[in-house]
Amino acid sequence: MGNDIIADFLNKGCQKSNFIVGSCAIESYQQIRQAAASAKALGYKYFRGGAYKPRTSSNSFQGLGLTGVTYLHEVCQEFSLKAVSEIMSERQLEEAYDYLDIIQIGARNMQNFELLKVLSKIDKPILFKRGLMATIEEYLGALSYLQENGKKNIILCERGVRGYDVETRNMLDIMAVPIIQQKVKLPIIVDVSHSTGRRDLLLPAAKAAKAIGANGIMMEVHPTPDLALSDAAQQIDYQQLEQLGKELWES
Ligand code: PEP
Ligand code: MN
Repeated sequence: MGNDIIADFLNKGCQKSNFIVGSCAIESYQQIRQAAASAKALGYKYFRGGAYKPRTSSNSFQGLGLTGVTYLHEVCQEFSLKAVSEIMSERQLEEAYDYLDIIQIGARNMQNFELLKVLSKIDKPILFKRGLMATIEEYLGALSYLQENGKKNIILCERGVRGYDVETRNMLDIMAVPIIQQKVKLPIIVDVSHSTGRRDLLLPAAKAAKAIGANGIMMEVHPTPDLALSDAAQQIDYQQLEQLGKELWES
């Protein structure tokens, strides 16, 4: 399942058709519908929205859970978009499975080997993100759990690793892209949002990803970023995305 999706990412350079946009979190039906409508109007195909949010503190917004997943599914059906969302446990996998086109495994679960073994048996494409402080060797070691049962429909994602500087949220390890491409025959995209943590750096990071030959980009976009319940500082709105797209794809 999803071989067309993997081909979308693997066989093309970095372009609009392998750009995953959408909000950090699904906050309400109205918010995610507005976001989906705008993403579609701009010609994007893959749409993200977090429902099970791995927040640093339990006091922060945790996401809408299964309700959010069903909202995402509904709006993706309405606008013919492919739904991408993270799950963090086997229980969440079971309840969200039918609603998603791509199942995301976030940085914090990169080494959740028991979960990876379960995922190695499922049919759907997995977006498998690099861990917060994982070396490339550790990342590819974890990948081997996901591939255990011959699973091939996997998209990798460089999302920055913890560094010593605090100017950006994480350090975007752009060289990981060609290094991993040399080692495995899987697409690797760049998450320019969680790596930089800054909306003013999304365009330069995306240009770098494109120039180095990444197989796609992920970017968080929100109808009203300053009101976002999570990751407000790194999200842009859809007008800004339109402008960014012009500079990225048309130049
Ligand atoms: C996300 O993409 O929603 C996310 C939480 O990213 P990461 O797992 O890379 O921190
Ligand atoms: Mn986020």
